[in-house]
Amino acid sequence: MIEKPRESAKRRRAHDPSVIPEGETLKMAAEYEDNFGYWDVDGPEERAFFKLVQRRSVHAICERCEQSVRLIPPKTVCACCVRALECGAPASISDY
Ligand SMILES: [Zn+2]
Repeated sequence: MIEKPRESAKRRRAHDPSVIPEGETLKMAAEYEDNFGYWDVDGPEERAFFKLVQRRSVHAICERCEQSVRLIPPKTVCACCVRALECGAPASISDY
């Protein structure tokens, strides 16, 4: 098998951010936090903003999935749940 160049993987991911193979996460320097989900931290400015978001986040329990997360007040729902809600999932896990 011929290994695909990294550029094509990066472009593919840009089109579909939900497809992130687990092994690639570290290689691509993608970071996860609970407010916004995955970040493609690209350059020092974005790195600084990412750190700021992390600093402002406080420990919270997600209102939807009840996971222990870190969110910027007044956020009460983690990134996974925000995405799920955007896709039309029920507002409460117990509604599944
Ligand atoms: Zn959640």
